[in-house]
Amino acid sequence: MLEWDIVIIGGGPAGLAAAIRAKELGNDRVLILEREGYLGGVLNQCIHSGFGFEIMQKELTGPEYAEVFIRKILVMGIEYKLNTTVFDLKRDKIIYAVNEVDGIIEIKSKAIILATGCRERPRGTINIAGSKSAGIFTAGTVQKFINLEGYIPGKEVVILGSGDIALVVARRLILEGANVKAVIEVNEQIEGKKENLEDCIKDFDIPLKLCYTVVGVEGIDRVEGVIISKIDENKVPIKGTEEYIACDTIVLSVELIPDSELLKGIGINQWTSSRGPKVNENMETEIEGIFACGNLLYVHNKVDKITLEGYSVGEKAVKYINENYYKSL
Ligand SMILES: Cc1cc2nc3c(=O)[nH]c(=O)nc-3n(C[C@H](O)[C@H](O)[C@H](O)COP(=O)(O)OP(=O)(O)OC[C@H]3O[C@@H](n4cnc5c(N)ncnc54)[C@H](O)[C@@H]3O)c2cc1C
Repeated sequence: MLEWDIVIIGGGPAGLAAAIRAKELGNDRVLILEREGYLGGVLNQCIHSGFGFEIMQKELTGPEYAEVFIRKILVMGIEYKLNTTVFDLKRDKIIYAVNEVDGIIEIKSKAIILATGCRERPRGTINIAGSKSAGIFTAGTVQKFINLEGYIPGKEVVILGSGDIALVVARRLILEGANVKAVIEVNEQIEGKKENLEDCIKDFDIPLKLCYTVVGVEGIDRVEGVIISKIDENKVPIKGTEEYIACDTIVLSVELIPDSELLKGIGINQWTSSRGPKVNENMETEIEGIFACGNLLYVHNKVDKITLEGYSVGEKAVKYINENYYKSL
């Protein structure tokens, strides 16, 4: 079994900042485990600018922001394992992870920092009627396909949801040659920022349907169209207001939820509102020595806030270890 002082699960901005601060405070036994083949988390797919205004006093793109911290990780010699998915945790801080090189890895750590981020709700949890046709994606997946892997998921697109990710993805699809036929939002106003409404929707003449929802999906093998309907004040579809929009792709951007699968196995309680783990003022969960930060806790709008939180959790983890393991040395 491998032994480390601090294992950080997730190499996004939260995990990177936690690792950097822990190492700055003198702990050399820090390991980051990251499921993807690169560090930086969701920042890598956010190629628009708008990151880093508070900490760096300039606006960077997501990859530029990530690069600043990845360089620090490399320069400081902080260890990490890529393509490594943590699939189980035990209350005595044993971690089970898997990758193609090592197979299953068992790690005992004095402290654990959970920094697994968040993801969008998939179709299965949204209750949209229709067969299981191909062509339905979350906006995060579409963004990853286009910006990281060079694929466009479809040509005639309808987007459900109007948060910032949905708006940014709508513009990205247009710029890559797709036709975004509508952005559908159940509320009376868009969820995302006003500037994104201007820059991503109005500037590209994308039809915005407020107080509408998707009530059906047509198509057996591949999506062929959606049926949308106006909704009343109780968000119930109004009969007779249905409209059909032909499309080959539906993008869902309905709600971000913490990537909290690992919490279930270990029995860490979650807030019913954010669904993130319950933590105390030290960002420590109910299990001593297991900390959490970043979008896993709740969805943050600004990455700088996440970075500062990561620094703080790195400090708390080092303090915990020094007090509980090294005080007699
Ligand atoms: C489309 C979009 C636009 C945004 N625009 C802006 C903006 O303009 N300005 C701004 O400041 N912020 C913006 N943000 C917000 C900010 O970028 C993110 O909130 C932030 O990057 C999240 O950081 P995180 O470290 O908590 O999570 P993530 O970046 O999601 O990192 C979590 C990491 O954990 C890994 N992981 C998950 N589970 C496991 C596991 N079991 N084992 C191993 N690894 C695992 C994941 O692979 C991932 O790399 C935007 C976000 C999005 C999605």
